[in-house]
Parts: sequence; C-alpha cells; structure tokens
Amino acid sequence: MMGFGQAPAVPTCSRAGCREPAKWNVNWRNPRIHPADRVKIWLACDEHVFYLREYLETRDFPVIVTPLDEKVNRVPDRQGLER
Ligand SMILES: [Zn+2]
Repeated sequence: MMGFGQAPAVPTCSRAGCREPAKWNVNWRNPRIHPADRVKIWLACDEHVFYLREYLETRDFPVIVTPLDEKVNRVPDRQGLER
C-alpha cells in the first residue's frame, strides 16, 4: 500500500483531472512575455499530448514536444510566423 504524505515518484500529466503517468514534455513559451530561452514545460500522457500541443498552437505559442527524459534549452519562434 502507498503511504500518505509522499509525492508520487512518477510525474503525471498536466491536463486537469488526468492522473496518467506523463510520457512527454510539452515545451512552450508565450512569445509576448517570454524570451526564446525561457522554456515552460507541461507534462503529458499519450492521450493528452496532442490536446495540450493544440491548445498552445491555437494561441500561436511556439511548442516543441519531446520525450519525458529529453530537455530543450529554448523554444524558437514558430516556422512561418517570422517576418
Ligand atoms: Zn493526460
């Protein structure tokens, strides 16, 4: 049995209400307030990785999805949006 008061060892999905173990990093930033080397990370399970990426992309935020153990240092501007 699991004891109380201990954080779970497995990172879980960032989607509200989802308790699935995370498999993906959704790396993103808001270009209006974050510089290119500022990386925000949501964790996502297999089911929600596309949902979370689309959520950000519809806001025109640059997004890079990587496996959970792979980090990125920066999220460049989205292709095609540069002037
Ligand atoms: Zn999920």
